[in-house]
Amino acid sequence: MKIAIIGAGYGGMAAAYDLRKAGHDVTIFESANYVGGLASGFKEPHWNWSVEKFYHHWFQSDSEMLGLIHELGLEHKVQFQRPLTMMLHKNKWYAFDSIINALLFPGLGFGLNKIRFGFVGLFLRLTNNWKALEKVTADEWMMKWAGKQVYEQMWKPLLIGKFGPYYKDVNMSWMWARIKARTTRLGTFEGGFQKFADLFAEKLREQGVEIRLEAKVESIKQEQAKLSVRSEKGIESFDKVLVTTSPNLLAKLAPDLPENYLKGLLELKSMGAVVMTLALKHSLSKEGYYWFNVPKDEGYPFLALVEHTNFVSAENFGGDHIVYAGDYLELGHEYFSMSDDELLERFIPAFQKFNPEFSRDWVRKIWVSKTNYAQPIPLVNHSKNIPEIKTPVEGLYFASMSQVYPWDRGTNFAVEIGRKAARLMK
Ligand SMILES: Cc1cc2nc3c(=O)[nH]c(=O)nc-3n(C[C@H](O)[C@H](O)[C@H](O)COP(=O)(O)OP(=O)(O)OC[C@H]3O[C@@H](n4cnc5c(N)ncnc54)[C@H](O)[C@@H]3O)c2cc1C
Repeated sequence: MKIAIIGAGYGGMAAAYDLRKAGHDVTIFESANYVGGLASGFKEPHWNWSVEKFYHHWFQSDSEMLGLIHELGLEHKVQFQRPLTMMLHKNKWYAFDSIINALLFPGLGFGLNKIRFGFVGLFLRLTNNWKALEKVTADEWMMKWAGKQVYEQMWKPLLIGKFGPYYKDVNMSWMWARIKARTTRLGTFEGGFQKFADLFAEKLREQGVEIRLEAKVESIKQEQAKLSVRSEKGIESFDKVLVTTSPNLLAKLAPDLPENYLKGLLELKSMGAVVMTLALKHSLSKEGYYWFNVPKDEGYPFLALVEHTNFVSAENFGGDHIVYAGDYLELGHEYFSMSDDELLERFIPAFQKFNPEFSRDWVRKIWVSKTNYAQPIPLVNHSKNIPEIKTPVEGLYFASMSQVYPWDRGTNFAVEIGRKAARLMK
């Protein structure tokens, strides 16, 4: 069969890998001039590694991703470390990366709250019954079982940070999935995620997959028994097409989809993201901390501050210290229209809270990455609202972050859903 895949992110490339191995003729259309999608990165001439546009790491539980890397014979390039994750309490940062540290965290006191925190954490780690949890919001469930103080100190800031005004609508299985699947050891690829994506693309090309970069698809239409794909580079017919973009974009690209499927696509909600990457002359966290969970109600202008070079050595970046400051935001938020310099001015006072010595002249260079589609919002009973991978249009398939569930989206699940789509298409 002649198959087109729209998008050279991890989902599209994983699907291409399996479809090509099954003997199909596969072409990937990618609008950008690079592969890797949301997990792509960039590199300065004096860096040996790339940095991701949006901070990325793997968990040890990312078996689909690690399994694929193994199949590609690249497992020796995966590096796992245990960098320090921090939580704020009364203007002081505390390590929050192990059960012992969680038990020592003073934000919960040392009485009943700590016991409730422990039991709720244990229950969520042990249960597999996410179907029961998706019937209720995380806000209601946590308030009831973890209690007001534990919820407000620990979990509510996380929900607000990720989902902003929708935080009360997110279902409890999302929270379950985060607690269940995450590990304290975090992984990356030698050279950065872009290096992995490039090696994967190289492998696909060797196998005979055609990857067309700067080939933005404009429409997919039914034409007798085929699907015609119109891109910036012309029109071409395929037996089957897999789309890996956002639901909104699929709705625009494929007008032949019936009304109920289109409605389902358009009702899915998601958050965007804005992430600033800074190359600094000095390290921001004197203590060597990697990840700071920043509670928005403390007045910080971002949700996460991540000193990447406390995870990957600054030597790989010619001595530059790489820091990310990022946030999940609703479309239309002012950060989407602010210039890079305006955003930097907004962030500088916050950087000084992490290190009072920080000054403007520490900044060697900044980059700001923005995306409308960063984090799907799973509402109550979300499993009933997920569009099928096989769409009602004959030959047209859809595999996106919005169908990753009950797990929280990530490259691991992009690989999983891409491979699932490939199995359905064969
Ligand atoms: C801030 C942030 C932090 C994250 N952190 C992590 C993390 O730590 N670990 C982790 O594993 N994951 C993380 N993720 C999630 C991860 O990046 C995604 O789950 C994954 O990359 C999704 O892959 P995908 O192939 O489904 O989609 P995408 O990567 O979005 O790929 C879709 C591709 O389609 C292309 N495209 C769009 N429109 C067209 C068109 N019209 N024609 C042709 N091509 C088109 C796009 O350019 C893109 O390359 C993070 C994401 C964000 C935003």
